[in-house]
Amino acid sequence: MTMRIGQGYDIHRMEEGRPCVLGGIRIEHTHGPAGHSDADVLLHAITDALLGAAALGDIGEHFPDTDPEFKGADSRELLKIVAGRVRDAGWGIVNIDASVLAEAPKLKPYKAAMRQSIASCLGISASNVNVKGKTNEGMDAVGERKAIVVHCVALLQRTSS
Ligand code: MG
Repeated sequence: MTMRIGQGYDIHRMEEGRPCVLGGIRIEHTHGPAGHSDADVLLHAITDALLGAAALGDIGEHFPDTDPEFKGADSRELLKIVAGRVRDAGWGIVNIDASVLAEAPKLKPYKAAMRQSIASCLGISASNVNVKGKTNEGMDAVGERKAIVVHCVALLQRTSS
């Protein structure tokens, strides 16, 4: 088997006054994702998609949220570590495709920077990273601006046996 696909999902509550960091990019907004680390919900979903594709478990196993070492952690650093573990397991990263479900903020002005930021964490070209923005049409916690959800898929290719 030379190709593997992985799926990642994450949700964070939105909290007033928290920094809004998505895909490693600081976004101007009144609210930001709450969490133990920098709460970068997009990078967390990507991290889980990569771990899933490589059958290496999940983000919580690699970086327990009970560990004070990861309090306020920069999720870019966690993603880089996981990309290294995926490569060490004999996999190259082919592409990433993520859907960010958020009523606000609007992602369009930040998408190009997010793709570049994600690509540089993974050591791949930004042309292999896609970020899509969706609203939830006003429905449920996402529609009420109480949460941001991200779904992501990652494709890996065998580099060694
Ligand atoms: Mg998370």
